[in-house]
Amino acid sequence: MRRNFWIGFAIVLLILFSFPAHRPVAQPNPALAQGRGGAVASVDRRATEIGIEVLRSGGNAIDAAVATAAALGVTEPFSAGIGGGGFMLIYQKAADRVITLDGREEAPASATVEMFKDPDSPMGEPLPFSPNRISNGAAVGVPGTLPTWEEALKRYGTMSLSEVLRPAIDLARNGFEVDQTFANQIQQNQARFAAFTSTQALYLPNGQPLVVGSVFKNPDLAKTYELIATEGLNPFYRGEVGEAIVQTVQHPPTVATPPFQVIPGGMTMADLDRYAVRSRSPLVTNYRGYKIYGMGLPSSGGTTSHEVMNIAENFDLSGLDSVKAWHTIIEAERLAFADRNQFIGDPEYVDVPLVGLQSAGFAQTRRALIGDRAPEKEFRATAGNPLLFQDDPSPSMTASTPSAQIRVQQAGSTTHLTVVDRMGNIVSYTFTIESIGGSGIVVPGYGFLLNNELTDFDPMRPHPNSPEPGKRPRSSMAPMIVFAPNGEVIAYGSPGGSTIITTVLGISFNLMDFGLSLADAIAAPRISQRNGGVTQVDSSFEQTDLGKSLTTLGHILEPVPEIGAATGITIAPDGLMTAAAEPVRRGGGSAMTVDR
Ligand code: GLU
Repeated sequence: MRRNFWIGFAIVLLILFSFPAHRPVAQPNPALAQGRGGAVASVDRRATEIGIEVLRSGGNAIDAAVATAAALGVTEPFSAGIGGGGFMLIYQKAADRVITLDGREEAPASATVEMFKDPDSPMGEPLPFSPNRISNGAAVGVPGTLPTWEEALKRYGTMSLSEVLRPAIDLARNGFEVDQTFANQIQQNQARFAAFTSTQALYLPNGQPLVVGSVFKNPDLAKTYELIATEGLNPFYRGEVGEAIVQTVQHPPTVATPPFQVIPGGMTMADLDRYAVRSRSPLVTNYRGYKIYGMGLPSSGGTTSHEVMNIAENFDLSGLDSVKAWHTIIEAERLAFADRNQFIGDPEYVDVPLVGLQSAGFAQTRRALIGDRAPEKEFRATAGNPLLFQDDPSPSMTASTPSAQIRVQQAGSTTHLTVVDRMGNIVSYTFTIESIGGSGIVVPGYGFLLNNELTDFDPMRPHPNSPEPGKRPRSSMAPMIVFAPNGEVIAYGSPGGSTIITTVLGISFNLMDFGLSLADAIAAPRISQRNGGVTQVDSSFEQTDLGKSLTTLGHILEPVPEIGAATGITIAPDGLMTAAAEPVRRGGGSAMTVDR
């Protein structure tokens, strides 16, 4: 009897703890999912869930991508949002075509090459890069994110902006739990955020960063999204939000004695009114039978990654030992970045020799420069001459200053999301506010951070990437859509400033030459050479056998805490969708499918 009682008691306990109704079922690997009814991969679980819900309710990939992006504007406000810009690649299955939308921020009419000069410097020295140049009104470009969402939905979506903003409005209003990444990003920016009253009020309540586990609500952002949901983009580009942006840029809301000099910008309502998204042709290249679609100018992401692949294609990377293979890739990156830094700018302002840069003949001249060892630390590759490989070999009217400055990028800004729907439509979208925390300035009363994208210009003349009125700064964003020879379709992308290019290249080579799955290629160590003296790598990489062997070939490896936080999705020929995000970087991402 007594024995039966205990057996019964144990069974009750087992049932209670096996099926806790209130506890969500833990997903074994939140960064990897397989299914057939559509898929979303982003850096954040809540954003991915919102995208999945849109797909589940019948929306297509474009609807789900915008809903996911709007949610990321709430949960990843230091990486991206309506105060910034980005580039969207869309594959329309029915028409079998790839379209790109350029929603890059634009310089206001007041932009000049002197815009970042220190007003107090008698010699006209530039402001120090951080915090001064990145945290002010002059660095703010006219945002392009909302017009990208609107244009994408209007042309290729099935739902209205108002509908897809709804879940993000609820998220901003009801709040969400602060995680470690969110808290870290505030801590890293504490001094900068504390310089602006509006940013301090939102992210440093009582002067302290929000703590992990607390609930963060952003009612001002909910109100801004709500306004856009009911009235469209006019309040933002021609009405009350626009006026608040202009006021913020021209008179940054600093505390009484900011710890650094904050210069104003000159953006006006006319600058906002003039903004338009551009629909541009994608850049296409072929590599080992894969057809690779990338983003065109003013991003350097497509052309630079294609040039590296063109240079690498004549080497049998999979046949070489891994040290020689990665040495070759590093050297190809070094050369392609020299060309990028010399020739790329906004195509509406400068003649970029794109045909030459993408040509096989030019790649051949660059390939010939790759030696058996890495060059000296002080060595910087000089640009090649792509003009010889164009039908029109006349030089661009805008000559370039050689040795464009190479600046070390802060890791971690920007975000990439990938979505596919049950019909096979795909969105590969990278968007940003530039630095982590953008300009550091929240628009008072509207709950979003303004970008500091104009720091992507090279503040020198002549240079194709000089600041000019209405011009878009050169970007590195590189959303990709790839068609494999076996019928698989693969979409991916990453954040990380100029390391975006080397991150998508690393993923590409791991997929196309070294036989890794997309998930393994995303998780693999990063190796990034951008024509600097050192090659940046993940912190643990230096001690690996490959790391040590690369060092013996003369490569100077610099460990950095984080390079990229990629996401991607593959669609197998039989329709199986595999969504993948980072297992570890940036706290781990989130991949889900509609029917797991
Ligand atoms: N501003 C950068 C670019 O467009 C993106 C920001 C980043 O990832 O650091 O290339």
